[in-house]
Amino acid sequence: MDPSSTALPATLIEQAASRLGCSPADKKLAFHLDEEDKLKHLRECFHIPKVKDLPPTDLTLVNGEESCIYFVGNSLGLQPKKVKTYLDEELDKWARTGVHGHFNGQRPWALADECLVDLMAELVGAQRHEVAIMNGLTVNLHLLMLSFFKPTPRRYKILLEAKAFPSDHYAVESQLRFHGLDVEKSMLLIRPREGEETLRIEDILAVIEEEGDSIAVILFSGVQYYTGQLFDIPRITKAGQKKGCFVGFDLAHAVGNVELSLHDWGVDFACWCTYKYLNSGAGGLAAAYIHEKHSQIICFSELQLSKGINGFRLSNPPILLVCSLQAGLEVKKPFVKIITPPQIEERGFQLTLTVSLPIKSVFEELEKRGVAVSKSGFNFLFITF
Ligand SMILES: *Cc1c(COP(=O)(O)O)cnc(C)c1O
Repeated sequence: MDPSSTALPATLIEQAASRLGCSPADKKLAFHLDEEDKLKHLRECFHIPKVKDLPPTDLTLVNGEESCIYFVGNSLGLQPKKVKTYLDEELDKWARTGVHGHFNGQRPWALADECLVDLMAELVGAQRHEVAIMNGLTVNLHLLMLSFFKPTPRRYKILLEAKAFPSDHYAVESQLRFHGLDVEKSMLLIRPREGEETLRIEDILAVIEEEGDSIAVILFSGVQYYTGQLFDIPRITKAGQKKGCFVGFDLAHAVGNVELSLHDWGVDFACWCTYKYLNSGAGGLAAAYIHEKHSQIICFSELQLSKGINGFRLSNPPILLVCSLQAGLEVKKPFVKIITPPQIEERGFQLTLTVSLPIKSVFEELEKRGVAVSKSGFNFLFITF
């Protein structure tokens, strides 16, 4: 199936079934679609739980040795196989070098979050200096609101979806109370029309048009956690800013799921967690974004803070969480690295490459194209001339 097609998935499935001459519910079609799936090699990058290790299943219906069908990546993404390697590297470094690990090695602990900023910025369509990796999602939401929500007697409302994620709803409520505002009057909740489940963009834009002058901050999710609806981020942003509001997004269910261009869309601020579609593990590090136009957002004259979002970073980065996040992000952005020294006098005719994808699929693709190379372990490829 062509994922870029605009036809409805059901139509595409019916078309594929009729090409195979079977029913859309036939197993044959499922196997065929798996075979055609351009992303199928990525399965190899993850540990998939076995049926027998999950809560009691009926073993007369399923084979316990088989992988389960994991449909909850939106709650907790699966574990990338590389996590253990990266954790071992840092545990080993700690054991061997103690405090010297702060500024040495591939991931100097004191700066470890910065090693991942490029990968993360690319995923959300932001500039490197607009993204920081830190804390948990709700902590970041509070930090951002402390700067962007500065209510005045005329502009004091926060607009959000009526069914926002509960912790987002509570965070907004606490921010309003923190400023001594009446929650009933200041929390503007937008609901779908009677009998409908999702919000219409024209209704969102109408509320912004009508109430915009009294709204300080618009906080929407990118993809709604409950209905799965993807909101029109650029249009909501533009409409809100035209009315003088700051517009921010919680991208917990959007990052790693849909394409984002936060910088080009001019989104003021955003935050997201990484343990859902980015597979960083329970309680993994979250991230936050502030558009570069707000680089002076926190400027205390007596403090020499970094500009923009980097000025919000607190505490040491937790290196063990950086390791698991790195493994997750690398699956999203495959890379090839030559580990043989580049200087001619420091090597012979061999180049050793490490690739972030399962070596088996890379090897097969090369062989198909008539390239003979040798491989080893999970991710090494040897090339000799
Ligand atoms: C998952 C999710 C959260 C969770 O936030 P934590 O701080 O990690 O507990 C918050 N908001 C949304 C929209 C989410 O989808």
